[in-house]
Amino acid sequence: MLLLLLGAPGSGKGTQAKKIAGCLGLIHIASGDLLRDHQTRGTALGLSAQEYMQKGILVPDELVIAMVMERVGSDNYTERGLILDGFPRTIEQAEALEFGLEGNGIDYALFIHVPEPELIRRMSGRLVCRVCQAPHQKGTHVCGNCGGELYQRDDDNLEAVRKRIEVYRDQTAPLIEFYRTQGKLIEVDGYHDVETVEAALIAVLKDHWN
Ligand code: AMP
Repeated sequence: MLLLLLGAPGSGKGTQAKKIAGCLGLIHIASGDLLRDHQTRGTALGLSAQEYMQKGILVPDELVIAMVMERVGSDNYTERGLILDGFPRTIEQAEALEFGLEGNGIDYALFIHVPEPELIRRMSGRLVCRVCQAPHQKGTHVCGNCGGELYQRDDDNLEAVRKRIEVYRDQTAPLIEFYRTQGKLIEVDGYHDVETVEAALIAVLKDHWN
């Protein structure tokens, strides 16, 4: 099964992608995690991406497409299946993905809908684990998953959060229609706790897959 998760920053894409990948045995590829890993390693791509990410704007298509498609090509996705998280974020990226995947492209785009005030509340109160990237609420001291150190992402300050939501509205939200037109869009209400959203996603996937 080839899936991707669509949703605004703070909609819970990353958390749900990991859960679905674990549940269905899919390979999980998160473009934001790949970019942060490049930054930690100080690669040329990491340095180029840093300025865009801190401002909350998108890293240029050609850089992200090359990075993600190289990773997709190096994993045995046709055998295990795949879930993409944070990619594509533009129509150009979606077209590059369609071109790069064998067959008919992805099977489903899972769209997690969360109202904007809730996105702002979640992201400005969020800490992330340096080791496993799991999100936590401010006030927590170590990661509940792996004991790793928690920190506030550079792009989770209020100014960058607002910018990221605006960028999502302008550049990423058109993908909802793009996948709806192809009959591949599955929409889930994300304004619930993690377990409820996970159960809804798994249930809807089982419905569509059988
Ligand atoms: P995320 O971890 O998915 O919230 O991504 C963090 C930041 O990484 C975004 O605000 C963008 O600056 C950059 N980024 C991640 N994925 C993409 C993408 N598909 N296209 C362009 N920029 C991206």
